[in-house]
Amino acid sequence: MREVNCPVCQASIFLDEEDKKGDTVYCSYCGSPLKLSAKKDDEELMAEEED
Ligand SMILES: [Zn+2]
Repeated sequence: MREVNCPVCQASIFLDEEDKKGDTVYCSYCGSPLKLSAKKDDEELMAEEED
């Protein structure tokens, strides 16, 4: 299972299979909306804090 780290609280966020680059997910710990980004294609997803 893929996971990303919340940039706000550093908690691990587990991603569903259908989550992909550009999607917004919510940190299960602090509730911050986070946008998924990727360095290349859909590999190595990272979460960025939304404005
Ligand atoms: Zn968080």
